[in-house]
Amino acid sequence: MKPFHSRTKIVATLGPASAKPDVLYSMFNAGLDVCRLNFSHGSQADHQEVLDTIRNINQKYNYNVGILADLQGPKIRIGIVKDGGINLVNGARTIITTQECIGNEERIYITYDTFPKDVKAGEIILLDDGKLQMRVIETNLKDEVVCEIVHGGILTSRKGVNLPNTKVSIPSLTVEDRKNLEFVLENDVEWIGLSFVRNAEDITELKDIIKQRGKTARVIAKIEKPEAIANIDEIIAVSDGIMVARGDLGVEMPMEEVPLLQKMIVQKCRAASKPVIIATQMLESMITTPRPTRAEVNDVANSVLDGADAVMLSGETSVGEFPLIVIETMQKIIQNIETNNYPFHPEKFLKSKSESFLSDAICDTACFLSKQTNAVGIVSMTVSGYTAFEISSHRPKALTYIFTSNKSLLNTLSLLWGVQGFYYDKFESTDETIQDVNNLLKEHKMVKKGDVIINTAAIPMEQKGKTNMLKITVID
Ligand code: PGA
Ligand code: MN
Repeated sequence: MKPFHSRTKIVATLGPASAKPDVLYSMFNAGLDVCRLNFSHGSQADHQEVLDTIRNINQKYNYNVGILADLQGPKIRIGIVKDGGINLVNGARTIITTQECIGNEERIYITYDTFPKDVKAGEIILLDDGKLQMRVIETNLKDEVVCEIVHGGILTSRKGVNLPNTKVSIPSLTVEDRKNLEFVLENDVEWIGLSFVRNAEDITELKDIIKQRGKTARVIAKIEKPEAIANIDEIIAVSDGIMVARGDLGVEMPMEEVPLLQKMIVQKCRAASKPVIIATQMLESMITTPRPTRAEVNDVANSVLDGADAVMLSGETSVGEFPLIVIETMQKIIQNIETNNYPFHPEKFLKSKSESFLSDAICDTACFLSKQTNAVGIVSMTVSGYTAFEISSHRPKALTYIFTSNKSLLNTLSLLWGVQGFYYDKFESTDETIQDVNNLLKEHKMVKKGDVIINTAAIPMEQKGKTNMLKITVID
């Protein structure tokens, strides 16, 4: 089993800097829980190699590191530009065209066919993470849009474009996304991220395809557009998890709003028992230096305090110089918060009208009881994973030990706050099974003589129904 590091989990984007088996294995041992494959970059062949490496390490060492495949969605980019880039000067005009060309000061290609029809005069165009800004002067409604440079600079090839005011008509799953989706479903990844989600239908459409293919991958909605913020409750309700994608969110929305949006989204996700990831620029300076800035250390720590399930790394681990040191650094920051002043057991209200009200009540009570008895663990068995999501959302101080016979579910649960999964397939009588899983925890040195643990189960065991039982055990 992978050594335990912290309740708050680490997601890291893999790339040339981290995809080698020995580097990846040391990152797993340093606390990496879920690997993100970013389908905005790399070929399927590249991703296949990484997927195989992760699965091989998992198998060899009996680890449960999960995989998050991140689909690009309706991301807009400019095309290739002339060598050395384009020098855009404040006040000058340029044409953005849907006709493919090598970009220069006069004309720049955009990967968005219906742009001239969707855009209106006066709307803002942001380029390269918002570093450059233009304003639309006029459109011919066909293939050309005249723009004025507001904040100029050097623009290089394939940079991202954000249109905070424009109603973008590109479908949420592009042709490329659909190809990548088939590929990742073939590979049975546990989590699929969708970029630039605008409404709940974007998620249900993706979930329908996954279901049609007979797969169990769960879907993470990346929140990075004003429309997603406007529809946040509906999106959380239909998603299996959420990512606060601060990179694009901070370009599409006034950036000063992002800190409070982060707190709002984390709170709503915990209330809905959905895992939430905080992403982008967490330790950005470590792409090139082995020590982060103090502000970055504070950002990771504050995200942990906000109650995130996981904190995420992007360029720091995919292309950075110090992928292992980055994981070690992040892990130290998380551990310091969790061992000193973590807000365990925050208030959570049971939804009285929920179909799962009774099992939710058991999970709530298990967490309450663990607090009252100073228990070291809450131990549950699950087939669907439901109990794990529910217990985790209470952020109990006791660790959540989940036993299941579903191997892929173990990888899924790696993303969840406080959850540690164990493979277990001998579901016999209640008494024997509880004794058995408790013994396994003792063998793994997770608990010791005299420790209190809270067991939950669904009895009778062989019916594999909903959680309906609680037991206090003192380890002997
Ligand atoms: P990206 O998403 O890295 O795919 O752009 C995360 C973000 O925008 O923060
Ligand atoms: Mn993004």
